[in-house]
Amino acid sequence: MEVKGEKRTQIWQVPVSPGAGPEAFKQSSPILRAARILREGGLVAFPTETVYGLGANGLDVDAVTSIFAAKGRPADNPLILHIASLEAIHGIVKEMPPLAIRLAGAFWPGPLTLVLEKAAHVPPVTTGGLDTVAVRMPSHPVALALLDVAGVPVAAPSANRSGRPSPTEAAHVITDLFGKVDVILDGGPTGIGVESTVVDCTGAKPIILRPGGVSKEALEKVIGEVDLDPHVLAAQEVETGPVRSPGMKYKHYAPKAPAVLVEGEPPGLFQRLTELARELEAQGQQVGLMVSSELMQYWQDQAIDSGGWQIACMGSRANPGEIAASIYRCLRDLDQMSVAKIIIEGVPTSGIGLAIMNRLEKAAAHRIVDA
Ligand code: AMP
Ligand code: MG
Repeated sequence: MEVKGEKRTQIWQVPVSPGAGPEAFKQSSPILRAARILREGGLVAFPTETVYGLGANGLDVDAVTSIFAAKGRPADNPLILHIASLEAIHGIVKEMPPLAIRLAGAFWPGPLTLVLEKAAHVPPVTTGGLDTVAVRMPSHPVALALLDVAGVPVAAPSANRSGRPSPTEAAHVITDLFGKVDVILDGGPTGIGVESTVVDCTGAKPIILRPGGVSKEALEKVIGEVDLDPHVLAAQEVETGPVRSPGMKYKHYAPKAPAVLVEGEPPGLFQRLTELARELEAQGQQVGLMVSSELMQYWQDQAIDSGGWQIACMGSRANPGEIAASIYRCLRDLDQMSVAKIIIEGVPTSGIGLAIMNRLEKAAAHRIVDA
């Protein structure tokens, strides 16, 4: 029996071998069928190099509306339009300022989203009523092949229920959206693991609205000084002033249990985090921890008994890319372990660390402890 409003979600495997380009997928049956579903107004979840996206034809009002319904996403939180070629941008934006041309030249295809003045026919439902539109060309070969064959700009937010950690594996999409989308393309785990960097290119100076896969340092090497929107980190949280990127207003990346983020440098960071875990354990709470391999080594060296804690390892502090790739999986793993409280280890905010800390601060609903 079909439940009203439910879709018969199909899951199609699209194995990606290392070094494969989009050409390897353009003639494949899953891509041809998924592209057709997109053109006909359906919903297709697909892998990108950042996280899985939930795609629909970005110029089709009904299709875009169904993205918001499937995710439970507030209508004023705009979507990013995904394209497979530079030419495709001309149909979406009013103009490409020189700054945007340089950024696209340097970072596309890749994890960078540009906010530009929208072309008249981009529907307000896609842009959350704004007169700007966010555009990106992803580098994942499955995403590029799908976008190219579909031949329409594809609106695609992350393929999770609104407010939940973003999906970095098809299994996460299945957990959140099975029965709500037509197809889930399973291309294995995503590489970068945090979303694209969003840069507002509509003013005289570029502004990072959301840190992501392209670091501030990398942007500045290409275009010089870039501003950071004050909402990006809690330390700079501002009560007043306009929110330029509506997504920043909402609860995001939240695990089921309340989480706290511990910020600081080892060894003080490791000591404080361990104390907190012990305090919660003493209160009889099932503690979940999201920590680095260095912290686990510290417990071993100090003969600290971590046996009563549920632990999700984010990877090594020496390799922030590894941590970026695992934070959403760790948050979801702790959900599965049914913990009562989560303690998260903070990392330095340089490079990809800025995107990691932006996500972790939100996951912890800005409950932050300084070591
Ligand atoms: P998601 O696709 O769920 O990763 O979220 C897309 C992000 O891009 C959100 O933070 C949005 O607020 C932001 N965004 C999309 N379009 C615009 C726009 N026109 N102006 C500013 N921010 C935008
Ligand atoms: Mg999202």
